[in-house]
Amino acid sequence: MFEVPSAPYSPICPRCFEPVKLEDAKTDEDGRAMHEDCYCASLKETTSITRRRSA
Ligand SMILES: [Zn+2]
Repeated sequence: MFEVPSAPYSPICPRCFEPVKLEDAKTDEDGRAMHEDCYCASLKETTSITRRRSA
């Protein structure tokens, strides 16, 4: 019988579509694994909307 070697499951980063190594994985608010860099970048994008600051 042919058996698939038990490769560790690498989730695909939803931002850059590269496999995410578990040691590099960050989990976003939706529970998806992504690279730390991609996570930070997406956070910046999310917060890049000009916030009103009533100083
Ligand atoms: Zn990525």
